[in-house]
Amino acid sequence: MIAALQQLEVDYPGRGRALGPIDLTLNAGEIVALVGPSGCGKSTALRLLAGLESPTRGTVTRAAGRGETSVVFQAPTLAPWMSTAANVALPLELAGTPRRQAREQAVAALARVGLKDAETARPAQLSGGMAMRAALARALVTSPRLLLLDEPFAALDEITRRALADDVLDLVEALAPAVVFVTHNVEEAVYMARRVVVMSPGPGRIAGEVAVEGPVVRPPGFRTTAAFRETAEAVSGLLARGVEAAA
Ligand code: ADP
Repeated sequence: MIAALQQLEVDYPGRGRALGPIDLTLNAGEIVALVGPSGCGKSTALRLLAGLESPTRGTVTRAAGRGETSVVFQAPTLAPWMSTAANVALPLELAGTPRRQAREQAVAALARVGLKDAETARPAQLSGGMAMRAALARALVTSPRLLLLDEPFAALDEITRRALADDVLDLVEALAPAVVFVTHNVEEAVYMARRVVVMSPGPGRIAGEVAVEGPVVRPPGFRTTAAFRETAEAVSGLLARGVEAAA
């Protein structure tokens, strides 16, 4: 087990119950997608798994320590005054790695995400897709055991999204962290995950779970297979039932 939420509830002042009770266990090497409508508590669940927020009730168990957990948000949040390589090296430097060694590892991490030539560029010089790659390199440079991705492709165009989805799966296969991928996009959830956890709103609960077959790195044409369509339909059905039940 890498992280677990047990009988977990989150109340926000003035808003009442936002999430729970939910139970979610994440095992080593698993890729789990959290899918659900806006406001159902996906990001809250991710922040709890990251240890960035505490629950109102229930327990969060984390086997991956803070330095072994990386989070990537929808916006790449790179420091604009630093070069791309310096941004990627930052988590290592903060953890005490000597600067020169941190830079070397950062340059290697940038090469892994296809940004070999961008190390001296400032974030403003990067396209949206390149900036997200840099954020991924920064997340992976510490070799995390737990990688938390909060709608990382939401701001990108469809072609870039798909290319990045494949790149993330290549990296996940090579580095084998446990991954939680938050999205409201059913197809993206089924493409990325081995297990899709469907959430329903008002307050956020787990409506059900769908397993996804196939290798981590998806073969060409995977999105057009009957198995993919059927799995996506099963997820959509759970989503619709969850939303109806909450209405
Ligand atoms: P999702 O990621 O599924 O869109 P969130 O986890 O962001 O959902 O939010 C779940 C609910 O909790 C929403 O209704 C949101 O408005 C509310 N919420 C989230 N964070 C806070 C906060 N810090 N204070 C008050 N309400 C919040």
